[in-house]
Amino acid sequence: MGRAFVYVIVGGGVVAGYAAHEFVKRGVSHGELCIISEESVAPYERPALSKGYLLPEDPARLPSFHCCVGSNEEKLTPKWYKEHGIELILGTQVKSADVRRNTLLTATGETISYKILIVATGARPLKLEEFGVSGSDAGNVCYLRDLADADRLVNVMQSCSGGNAVVIGGGYIGMECAASLVINKLNTTMVFPEAHCMARLFTPKIASYYEEFYKSKGVKFIKGTALTSFDFNTDGKVTAVNLRDGNKLPADMVVVGIGIRPNTSLFEGQLTLEKNGIKVNGRMQSSNSSIYAVGDVAAFPVKIFGETRRLEHVDCARKSARHAVAAIMEPEKTGEFDYLPFFYSRVFTLSWQFYGDNIGEVFHFGDFSGKTFGAYWIHNGHLVGSFLEGGTKEQYEAIAQATRLKPAIEDLTELKRQGLGFALSV
Ligand code: FAD
Ligand code: NAD
Repeated sequence: MGRAFVYVIVGGGVVAGYAAHEFVKRGVSHGELCIISEESVAPYERPALSKGYLLPEDPARLPSFHCCVGSNEEKLTPKWYKEHGIELILGTQVKSADVRRNTLLTATGETISYKILIVATGARPLKLEEFGVSGSDAGNVCYLRDLADADRLVNVMQSCSGGNAVVIGGGYIGMECAASLVINKLNTTMVFPEAHCMARLFTPKIASYYEEFYKSKGVKFIKGTALTSFDFNTDGKVTAVNLRDGNKLPADMVVVGIGIRPNTSLFEGQLTLEKNGIKVNGRMQSSNSSIYAVGDVAAFPVKIFGETRRLEHVDCARKSARHAVAAIMEPEKTGEFDYLPFFYSRVFTLSWQFYGDNIGEVFHFGDFSGKTFGAYWIHNGHLVGSFLEGGTKEQYEAIAQATRLKPAIEDLTELKRQGLGFALSV
């Protein structure tokens, strides 16, 4: 026995919220759309979990950050889904998919069939065990992907105020959590294998600015090494982190952010995969024409770069979700997704935005000892990427617009001289 829907979204994260909003805007009928989510709450803005959610004073809590408040649009509470006749099946994992029969089997034993499926299963954190280190299950080792993880992190953090926290990984989770940990009065040390933080995006010069700022807030950095093992007490809690360079760091808690893997397992062997994700075309349609994939799980053609990429950022999840729904409901009016990659972060009083691609030669501009600075990436004679810290709304819009236009850069000295002014003049 089971239920049948015209549209089913598997996964209840950012994509699901924005897709549902777009379905309603385009006139989905009551009873046509269903969302199945392993999480027990309606779709929410995941970025809040490493920012406002972790603050000691007046922390963000649901329902304040349900989708789509992140884009200054209406807040989709469970009541909203009900009023629009959208079935929210929460706390329910999909165990298997049969793409030839157009069915999903849930952990509760229900078979749900669809005409069109949107795969929005996001990603899972990589575990230390995948790097040969055991201890992820210890009571004071935290990962951060969903609300349950965030609640656990808050509890552990509160239970060791004034103690030592070790953050493993120098990427987004590491940087944002380290900021929250010191704000919560933990002595915080970051450990990562690269020469500087945010190695996937930052130049050494940009990274140095953030590292110095973090140090001024009390964060310590141990770079160019990795953890090899933990020491445990008799309760099974971690008491120290052992590093490859021979150092031992005392630890009351550990936060791990060492990257993610897209949740593709339901469809392996059934859909074409690429770059660890589900390969889709410019309409977000997979190798099976009834199945679309969106957000962290999708590898899609990024037109502006002329290649297929998988992006792990919220703006992409929101926009690709809306595009997929447009392609499903109004196929003749919907072209190829034409997306300019956009990443951002906010920590302490800092805030940066990046647009485009970080390949080619880099030119820094602005005042690296002050509040506003940035960088341009020039590849094959064209501007392909722009970074700005501490900009105004207009300045961020200008770097986004300039990057989208990919202007030819004939005079590099002039670009350097103009700095941010170049983007404002394009
Ligand atoms: P998700 O939002 O992860 O949703 C996936 C959903 O699928 C989840 O509800 C999951 O439980 C469900 N699911 C998975 N498998 C199954 C299954 N088998 N059955 C049922 N349900 C299933 N990006 C930015 O650009 N800026 C930020 O500041 C930022 N901050 C972030 C902070 C944190 C803590 C995290 C974890 C990510 C952050 N990101 C940020 C990234 C951004 O949140 C993701 O890119 C975005 O959430 C991707 O949306 P999604 O819908 O593809 O996946
Ligand atoms: P990440 O890819 O940003 O960074 C992973 C970090 O772990 C890197 O510094 C990497 O070198 C390090 N690392 C890898 N193996 C290691 C090892 N064995 N020991 C120590 N360090 C190791 O991934 P993340 O920080 O885990 O973030 C997870 C996801 O959440 C990403 O998709 C990210 O985009 C998303 N996120 C985004 C934002 C944002 O955009 N502002 C904020 C939070 C999370």
